[in-house]
Order: sequence, then structure tokens, then C-alpha cells
Amino acid sequence: MRKFILVILIPSAMEEIVSMNWDVLEIPLRKPFKIAFETMDTYRGVIVKICTEKYCGYGEAAPAPRITGDTVASVVAALERFKPMLIGRNPIKIGKIMDDLNSSLLGTPSAKAAIDFALFDILGQKMDTPLKDLLGGKKEKIETSLTVDIGDLNYTLQHARKLLDAGAKVLKVKIGLNPEEDVERIKAIRKMTDAKIRVDGNQGYSLKTAMKVLKEIEKYDIEFAEQPIPAHEIDNLKILRENVDIPIIADESVHNSLDVLRLIGKVDGINIKLMKSGGIYEAMKMASIARTAGMKIMIGCMIETHVGIAAGTHFALGIGADYADLDGYWDLTKQPYLGVKYKDGYNSVPDKAGLGIIPQ
Ligand SMILES: [Mg+2]
Repeated sequence: MRKFILVILIPSAMEEIVSMNWDVLEIPLRKPFKIAFETMDTYRGVIVKICTEKYCGYGEAAPAPRITGDTVASVVAALERFKPMLIGRNPIKIGKIMDDLNSSLLGTPSAKAAIDFALFDILGQKMDTPLKDLLGGKKEKIETSLTVDIGDLNYTLQHARKLLDAGAKVLKVKIGLNPEEDVERIKAIRKMTDAKIRVDGNQGYSLKTAMKVLKEIEKYDIEFAEQPIPAHEIDNLKILRENVDIPIIADESVHNSLDVLRLIGKVDGINIKLMKSGGIYEAMKMASIARTAGMKIMIGCMIETHVGIAAGTHFALGIGADYADLDGYWDLTKQPYLGVKYKDGYNSVPDKAGLGIIPQ
């Protein structure tokens, strides 16, 4: 007897990842960028593109060796390891994919962030919705600080003037190298403008120096002070917070949700950077813990292209962050991608599905 086998082909509702590619970028900065622990003159990062048959999502890794513990070389090695774990997967199952990447390799948060952004970009495109709305849709625009890095008084005033002329409503002034000069710089900027001033010590001071400097600049109406002391000095952050009248925001002390738990009651808020957290999936947990604990939420960035800053802006808008510092592309001499809009001190995103990245 002859047997017949009937094969019926049903188009699959699931769309799988068919390719993942990346480009290493090296873009000189318009001028050296100086903070307490380093001076940078070139941005080095990796742009990742993940595609299904129908959609392509973009992501970016902006490794900051002294903060995230990764480099361009380690990001590329991580991406090579992750690629076979992604091909053939359903890109919408972001939580499961990120859990698998985390189980496979400790660290390399910026490589994981790049994949996470690309997956969320695909999700947004599939839903035909801007990512910010999928993440909560709480804001349409957010005030961003523009950064005055470290330099002499003359440089500080010239640079601050330039940023104010560009519409800055908030100046983030880098401090942490020279206490006397820092106080003079803040005093001079306050004399020049009524704009909000926040300061960032990038771990540069001891507790004693931080206490002294912050007390001296209290009278200049400082919005908050970011990470004035070393990252591991969690208990000293609490002492600082109890002794000065400027709110304290943790940055280098907080990378992931476990760090947020450790900081409850010790700082007024946290600076979430998607390059530290390994992307949006982990950052959502961080934001939930911080909100529940009554902490302020700031969304920050590294030096990044529009791809990373767009992800940060969508996230900040979606969850309704309290503060944003999303100016990481300002000093790049080239913008190979567009995705974020800046106008009169505010960041917003174009009305496009997903992250809305446009390669130039
Ligand atoms: Mg900071």
C-alpha cells in the first residue's frame, strides 16, 4: 500500500533573527573632554544591527573601560560569542534573551546594551509604536543638562556661555580635580546665569573634601551633586548626604538593580546609564526599585552617538525620569546616525516606530 504524506506549509507568526552585524566606530571629538579621572579626545564604540526578514534594529556599545569594565575589543569578543545565541531566536522575547546572555558571560554591559537596544528597536517597529510609548509614554520631551568639563576659569566661562547660547536650561559642571578652582568656577558660572547648575565630581574627592566643597557651593543654588566620592564608599555617601544641603545622586556606585537596593536610604537618587546596566531590560528593574524607594531617577550617558542617546531618551521619556543628562553626541565631529532631537534645552524623539534611527 502506498503511503501519502501531506505537508501543509503555514506561514509562521514568529519572526526570527536572521542576521547580526556590527561596525567599530572611531570618531574624534571637537575638543578634548576632561573630567576628574580622565581626558578623552576620541570616541570609540560599536554599532550593532540585528535583522529579521522584515525589520532591522540598531544598538550601540559605548564601552567606558574605567566604569563599565569593557573595551571595544572585549565588546567585539562578546558580540562574537552572543551572535550564535541570537540567530534563529524570536527577537520579541527580550527578557529571556537577556537572561541567556547574562548567564553566558559576566560583565560586558555595553555589548549587552547594544543587543538590548536593537531588540527593543525591533519590538517598537513590529508594534508600529515609538519605543518611549511602549516603555510607559510618560513624557514627550525632557530637559537635558549640557556639560561643562574641567578647564581653567576662562575656559569654563566661555564654554558655559556657548552652551547657554545653545539653549541650555541646565548646566552640568564637572568638578573633582581642584577644590579651590572648582568653587571659583561654580561661583563665576552662577554670577553669569540663573540656569540650573548641577555638579558631577566623578569620584574625584575624599569625603572630607567633598563635604567642604559642597558646603561652600550650597549658596549658589545647586540642583544636586553627582558622585563626589569614590564608587565603593557607599556608607560615606550617606554621611555626605546627611551633612550637606545639596541632594546627592549616585552614578559610578550604581550599575544594576542590586546596586540600587544597596543604596536605598543612602542617596537622594541614582543616575541610570544604559551602558552600565546592560540595556533597557535591566534599567526597568532599577527604575522600579528606585521609584518604590522614593529615589529620584536621572538618565545619563557616556560619550555616544545618536543611537545610544536615542535609547536613553526613549527610556527617560517612557518611565518619566526626573532628570536627564543626554548630551553624549554633542562633541562628536561626525554624526553617522540621527535619532534624537534637541531644542532649547530639551531632548525628544522623532515620531517614528522603534528607536527611529536614521543612518546618514
Ligand atoms: Mg556622572
